[in-house]
Amino acid sequence: MKFLFLLLVAISSAYAQIRVVTTFSVLTDFVKIIGGDDVAVTTIVPLKSDPHTYQPTPTDVRAIANADLVIINGLGFEGWIERLIAASGYKGRVITAAEDVKPRTLMQKGVPTYDPHTWHDVQNAVLYVKTITKALVTHRPCKAGDIQKRSDAYQRELIDLDGWVRSMLNKIPQDKRLVVTTHDAFWYFGQAYNVIFLSPVGISTDAEPSAASVARLIKMIKREKIQAVFIENLSSKRLIEQISKETGVAIDGTLYADSLADGNAQSYIATVKLNTQTIANGFFS
Ligand code: ZN
Repeated sequence: MKFLFLLLVAISSAYAQIRVVTTFSVLTDFVKIIGGDDVAVTTIVPLKSDPHTYQPTPTDVRAIANADLVIINGLGFEGWIERLIAASGYKGRVITAAEDVKPRTLMQKGVPTYDPHTWHDVQNAVLYVKTITKALVTHRPCKAGDIQKRSDAYQRELIDLDGWVRSMLNKIPQDKRLVVTTHDAFWYFGQAYNVIFLSPVGISTDAEPSAASVARLIKMIKREKIQAVFIENLSSKRLIEQISKETGVAIDGTLYADSLADGNAQSYIATVKLNTQTIANGFFS
């Protein structure tokens, strides 16, 4: 009897969905695509909130407490995650999606700090997908075949996307590839696809830029005759509007920096395409 009970428990846990908690929307998209019906995903930071400055709620504490797996970006993106996990009592595995990515290190107030926005280079997104795949397979080995199949198909889509971004931006003359956006979220995109991003705000959105650094940026926009200036989906528009007014350079659209969005930007692939198109159109406007 006891054996039968244990067998039933084993069978039902093998078929139950893996309860995955992710910190933000990009990771949720990856987990849903790779995990399919084998996962039930909860996202901590809602689409319209800024992951850098997010304040966890009691609902988040409960979600983590009930999770089978927690997946974070890492590299300091979610400054609040350690306290949240500690508060929940969660003792399971915490997967850092960016663990195999080579991060950019910056000195901030004398302290070496990672730039966490690694997913904007599509080849890094492939590394995220591989890390998440390994975590799901380790957690549910009996589903390894399905998980790996979905992951392989998605990785092929990402490799195609990487080529597409490159071909879109290759049309732009090299000396024109300077753009301005709100915060320093696109360095990895710039490195991968040969675009230089300038921004008044640093790698986190929790600090206001100094008047001097805004003035320096305005000077540079005028000197370099920068044509492409963008706002971001989550950040305040005020600063970029001021810069646009003082330089006479029109705002060329919205970039999706730290989250996906409702409407046309509901998936990672869609946001990369939108960002690329917005940037390319900015050069030709
Ligand atoms: Zn950011």
